Amino acid sequence: MNTRAYAAMTAGADLVPYQFDRRELGAHDVALDIAYSGICHSDIHQAREEWGDALFPMVPGHEIAGTVTKVGSAVTKFKVGDLIGVGVFVDSCRLCENCKAGLEQYCLDGMTGTYNSYERDGTTLAMGGYSNYFVVNEDYAVHIPSNLPLQGVAPLLCAGITLYSPIKHWNVGPGKKVAVMGLGGLGHMGVKFAVAMGADVTVLSHSPHKQADALAMGAHHFISTQDEAVFAAHEKKFDVILNTISAEIDINQYLSLLKLNGTLVVIGLPGKPYALQVGALLGARRSMGGSMIGGIAELQEMLDFCGKHNIVSDVEVIKPDYINAAYKRTVASDVKYRFVIDTSAL
Ligand code: NAP
Ligand code: ZN
Ligand code: ZN
Repeated sequence: MNTRAYAAMTAGADLVPYQFDRRELGAHDVALDIAYSGICHSDIHQAREEWGDALFPMVPGHEIAGTVTKVGSAVTKFKVGDLIGVGVFVDSCRLCENCKAGLEQYCLDGMTGTYNSYERDGTTLAMGGYSNYFVVNEDYAVHIPSNLPLQGVAPLLCAGITLYSPIKHWNVGPGKKVAVMGLGGLGHMGVKFAVAMGADVTVLSHSPHKQADALAMGAHHFISTQDEAVFAAHEKKFDVILNTISAEIDINQYLSLLKLNGTLVVIGLPGKPYALQVGALLGARRSMGGSMIGGIAELQEMLDFCGKHNIVSDVEVIKPDYINAAYKRTVASDVKYRFVIDTSAL
């Protein structure tokens, strides 16, 4: 099926209009008209090849919200007209212990990315959501609650689940002091979920002008990290720190903010490694962990939670011809708080 999209043709090049054919609908596939597609900072890292080998032409986009237009003969989970979401991966081996445990994002054989990845046939280049049409196996798509505005839902498919999952795993809730590093697409979802779970929530941001927004999202405290003195002033304060920063930083300064037995969860993935001073861990039996998106069952759980608690992303909806400008603004931390492409304009 002919599909209109935006693609990066080479690493770091501006994205340009692009057309390609998606596969025919298989028995277990669902076809969807994409309504909105979020811009994740991971799209930018990959289109600019900041994470190593990247596959071109690249149609990024793994925060996909749309409507089912067709279902394959064996599909049972969806019907035509359903609201449907697709996130960061579109397949996995389904057989390994992690897949069987509903942790497909950690598939031992490697998940199949929504883009910048080959499909399970090993030859078809997966093309993402900056496009008007998508085909996905029904097992790797989720239902979107009908009470939420669809443009605010799209970012939940990556930014939302990527914070929901560690917040659940590290038991962020009542009685816990949690800090979110970076108030961007992921960070602002972390604030909303941590607040909804009942934790005491602090934002650590290098953009002081974001304070009012952070507090409006429900954060209880805001610390501007532009003033280095704040690291000493808030030493040993937090149980959990969720690091969503996309750039290189001094991670040791942030580790010093953890109290005894505290954990800093790395979620942001800058292109270069951190210079970790392990002494920062020893001094208060601290841990550093990592977390990557979430599995399909948890993705559905998160969307149902959002439907119940009226949680969506704060978005700036753009036309496709604004993608390159949106990339520049995202890298400059000038994002409130997720760019979402209106793909109907393709
Ligand atoms: P984003 O919207 O650009 O937000 C990143 C935020 O980091 C910025 O808004 C800014 O917040 C802060 N920041 C940026 N540059 C900084 C600097 N030089 N010093 C200090 N803080 C800085 O990006 P995103 O889409 O939320 O993604 C964040 C990171 O998570 C990216 O690296 C992305 O690839 C990664 N990611 C990981 C997963 C996963 O599964 N683990 C999933 C999706 C994305 P302030 O202005 O508040 O300081
Ligand atoms: Zn993402
Ligand atoms: Zn697997």
